[in-house]
Amino acid sequence: MKYYDYVIVGAGIVGLTIARELFSREPEAKILMLEKELEVGRHGSGRNSGVLHSGIYYPEGSLKARMCASGAKLMADYCDANKLPIVRLGKVILPVRDNHGPQLELLFQRAVANGAKVEIIDQRQLHELEPSARSVIGKALYVPETAVVDPGTIVKHISSELQNMGIDIVFDTQINDVDVERATLNTNHGEFRYGWLFNSAGQYADKVANAFDVGKCYTLLPFKGIYYRLSSASKVVCNRLIYPLPDLNVPFLGVHYTKKIDGQVYLGPTALPALGREHYQRLEGINLVEGTSILFRLGQQYFFNKQGFREFSHIEALRFFKSKFAEAGRLLTPGLSDEDLLPCNKVGIRAQLLDLKKHELVMDFVVENGENSTHVLNAISPAFTSSMSFAKYIVDQKVN
Ligand SMILES: Cc1cc2nc3c(=O)[nH]c(=O)nc-3n(C[C@H](O)[C@H](O)[C@H](O)COP(=O)(O)OP(=O)(O)OC[C@H]3O[C@@H](n4cnc5c(N)ncnc54)[C@H](O)[C@@H]3O)c2cc1C
Repeated sequence: MKYYDYVIVGAGIVGLTIARELFSREPEAKILMLEKELEVGRHGSGRNSGVLHSGIYYPEGSLKARMCASGAKLMADYCDANKLPIVRLGKVILPVRDNHGPQLELLFQRAVANGAKVEIIDQRQLHELEPSARSVIGKALYVPETAVVDPGTIVKHISSELQNMGIDIVFDTQINDVDVERATLNTNHGEFRYGWLFNSAGQYADKVANAFDVGKCYTLLPFKGIYYRLSSASKVVCNRLIYPLPDLNVPFLGVHYTKKIDGQVYLGPTALPALGREHYQRLEGINLVEGTSILFRLGQQYFFNKQGFREFSHIEALRFFKSKFAEAGRLLTPGLSDEDLLPCNKVGIRAQLLDLKKHELVMDFVVENGENSTHVLNAISPAFTSSMSFAKYIVDQKVN
C-alpha cells in the first residue's frame, strides 16, 4: 500500500490550488491527488462564467470577503505570468427594482470595505460604457477591474504544472471506503495511506466529509445554471459584464451578461433545481433516490421560507422557459428580444450547501476539520476567483 504525506480528493480548482500551496510550503512532501473523472475541469471548475470577481457582494469579515479580492489578484498575476488569456473588461451592476437604492449603497460600502475598486455612476456614464443597459433608478455601480479568464485552460495548466513538480494525479479513481483510524482510503485503484487528507470533492464534498463524521448537519442541494448565447444579429451591445443587483438573501448573482475571452456573449446562469449532483442535460445524471431527496429538501425550504426562498423559487423556476429567461435579460437591457437568445450547451451545477438545522442555504465558504483531514464544504462562487488565497487558508487549517 502506498503512503502519501497528503492526499487531496478532487482535482477541481480548489484541490489543484491546495496541492500547489502544499508544494510551495513543503517541496519534499509526497502529494497525491485523486480525481474520479478522466481529466480536470469536468465539473464546477470547467463550467463556470469565468469571471474573476472583485469582492463586491460579501459581508465584511466573511471568508468570501477575505479571500475574493486577494484571490483575484493572485489568479490574474498567474495568468499574466503564464501567458494564459485574461481580459480586464470591467463590469456594471444595475439596480433592477425601484427600491434598490439602499442596496446599491450597501454594495458600494461592502466593496470599499473589501478593498475593491468601485464607483457609483449615473445614467449618462452608464450609457457611455454600456449603451444598451439601463438602471431603473438612474445609478449603477462600475467595477473597472473585474476580469474574465478561461477556467478550463487555467485548470489544465495548473494540473500539468503540478505533474511536472512530481505531484501524482490519479484519474478515474473514486473512493469506495475510508478507514479513518488507519488513515487509509480504499479506491477502485487500490489502497492509499495518508498523513493528512484534504477533501475538495466539489459536488460530493459533503458525502466524502460524512465518511469522516464531518459536516453531518449539512447536505448539498444542486442548482443548475443554464446559459443562452447572444446572437451576433442582436442589436444589444455588451462591451463588458452586465450584472443585476442581486438578491442578497441567497448566494446567487442572478442572470447576467458575460463576455467570454473569445468575445462571445452569454446570458445566465439560472439557479434551477437539478435532480442529481451531475444532472447537466435532459435525463442524463438524474438519480431517482437523490432526486426525491432533493425535491423533499426544496419542499421544506419552500415551507420554511427562510431567505425569501418562496419568492426566489417562483422567479427562478420560471426561467426554465426561454420567454421568462429573456425577461430577466430585459431587466438589464430592455432591447433584448427572445430571438436574440440562442440555445447553447454551456451549463454548470452549483454545489450549494444547505444547513439542515437552520433550514438555510449557506452563504459563505465552509471549511471543517476531521481526524487527520480538512473538508471544504461550500466552495461556491467566487471559489474559482478566490482559490489561490483560499488554498492558503485551507492549508493553514491543518493541525500539525
Ligand atoms: C454556473 C456557474 C457559474 C459560476 N461562475 C463563477 C465565476 O464566474 N467566478 C467564480 O469565481 N466562480 C464561479 N462559479 C463557482 C466556481 O465554479 C466553483 O466555486 C469552483 O469551480 C469550485 O471548485 P471545486 O474544485 O470545489 O469543485 P469542482 O470543480 O467541481 O471539482 C471537484 C472535483 O472533485 C471530483 N470528485 C468528486 N467526488 C470525488 C470522489 N469521491 N473522488 C474523487 N474525485 C471526486 C470531481 O470529479 C471534480 O473534478 C460558478 C459556478 C457555477 C456552477
